[in-house]
Amino acid sequence: MTFEYAPAPESRAIVDIKPSYGLFIDGEFVDGHGKSFKSISPSTEEVLAEVAEANDADVDVAVKAARRAYTRVWSKMSGAERGKYLFRIARIIQERAREFAVLESIDNGKPIKETRDVDIPLVAAHFFYYAGWADKLAYALPGNGNNGADPQPLGVAGQVIPWNFPLLMLAWKIAPALACGNTVVLKPAETTPLTALLFAEVCQQADLPAGVVNILTGAGETGRAIVAHPGVDKVAFTGSTDVGRAIAKSVAGTDKRVTLELGGKAANIVFDDAPLDQAIEGIVNGIFFNQGHVCCAGSRLLVQESVADEVIATLKRRMKTLRVGDPLDKNTDIGAINSAEQLAKIRELSDIGEAEGAGRWSPACDLPQTGFWFPPTIFTGVSQAHRIAREEIFGPVLSILTFRTPKEAVEKANNTPFGLSAGIWTDKGSRILWMASQLRAGVVWSNTFNRFDPASPFGGYKESGYGREGGRHGLEAYLR
Ligand code: NAD
Repeated sequence: MTFEYAPAPESRAIVDIKPSYGLFIDGEFVDGHGKSFKSISPSTEEVLAEVAEANDADVDVAVKAARRAYTRVWSKMSGAERGKYLFRIARIIQERAREFAVLESIDNGKPIKETRDVDIPLVAAHFFYYAGWADKLAYALPGNGNNGADPQPLGVAGQVIPWNFPLLMLAWKIAPALACGNTVVLKPAETTPLTALLFAEVCQQADLPAGVVNILTGAGETGRAIVAHPGVDKVAFTGSTDVGRAIAKSVAGTDKRVTLELGGKAANIVFDDAPLDQAIEGIVNGIFFNQGHVCCAGSRLLVQESVADEVIATLKRRMKTLRVGDPLDKNTDIGAINSAEQLAKIRELSDIGEAEGAGRWSPACDLPQTGFWFPPTIFTGVSQAHRIAREEIFGPVLSILTFRTPKEAVEKANNTPFGLSAGIWTDKGSRILWMASQLRAGVVWSNTFNRFDPASPFGGYKESGYGREGGRHGLEAYLR
């Protein structure tokens, strides 16, 4: 059962949301030449701000500003000097962490507990980490460092990011690009532009030279224009596999460098010798963290048949204690679904799961009347043929399958078009190592899940994309 907790809302007084925002180009906020759109709070449907939608002409101005800043200032500056700017940005983000956390929760719908303890600290950590690399790039590429290597930046990076970790995805893109001496034109997702715009203010506060970072708000058309602009040397995209495919086509035949971080359908594999209490926490964290809007979410639970009943019963008990509601309440475990569209997609796939014969279960929970909400949900009796076992739902919905032998677990885990992440829960170190060598996934967690560190590379196999972000590997994508 859930104990009644008194509400513990974080104050929103710390954030100052302006009624309207322009585009951040060449160090200043300017009016765009296109239309505008509204950013709404997914938990209340309140209109937060009117935001400019960059059109082709705006993209052109921003790319040219980035080029000027690249040739005249940023690529000429020593790595040590660039590093100082990145350290300064990291420190300002730490100083303004509460403001960023509250704004991210309001604009995205995710719980303050997560923005405060995960998103924003990781954002600062990324800037600190890559600040440290800026003057050590001679050691960034394999075999370099002692052969006089002097890797060079690529130029202007066009970067397009999704809505699930708005500021964190911005950090993953901007920190390594700037450390390597590139300049950027970045587009946040249309449902979550506000923290990127606050980051633009941080760039001003840090006295970052004008044009090094340009933030263009807008939707798919703006993203397409950035990717297609001939002045862009490098494209970095995180988002859906469909859009990733369109981007790969758009840059084919050009000499643009590309990294794509796309979708996933990770297997979280629980063996009968696993520490089950910990595994349950790992399962909950794997699929309900960030409402399941996580590309590497453990959305397929593979549980060994001999412990399946026990795992499912314990999981249900644990799910009854999850609190769904106000993202700004410090007790909230599961916040709002990011948009009406995403909610419709989750509902559709869940209904298909039920229609295809899987057993659907959610704990009783009172969902707020306004806003976009979906209860934590599990499906039992799922087979490989079910669409909910194959397609990314990107919501708080777990498909549970069973297996008997490690070999069968590997076959089922790898039977997916994706390959971003996987989890293994077992007492045996030898089994962890064997499984990790067999799983076709970019990240394999053992006896934990959804752990991120700026020093650790992240990326996919197959339809989950190509290229790595994070760690030393993340520098390779931004160096010649
Ligand atoms: P999406 O692909 O629809 O949108 C992502 C971004 O691309 C948005 O900024 C959007 O405006 C822009 N965009 C849309 N059409 C475009 C086009 N034709 N050209 C250029 N840009 C375009 O994805 P989404 O629904 O916002 O995000 C969810 C997806 O992102 C999921 O599939 C998830 O797995 C994936 N994701 C992957 C990672 C990773 O690191 N692999 C991380 C987070 C999310």
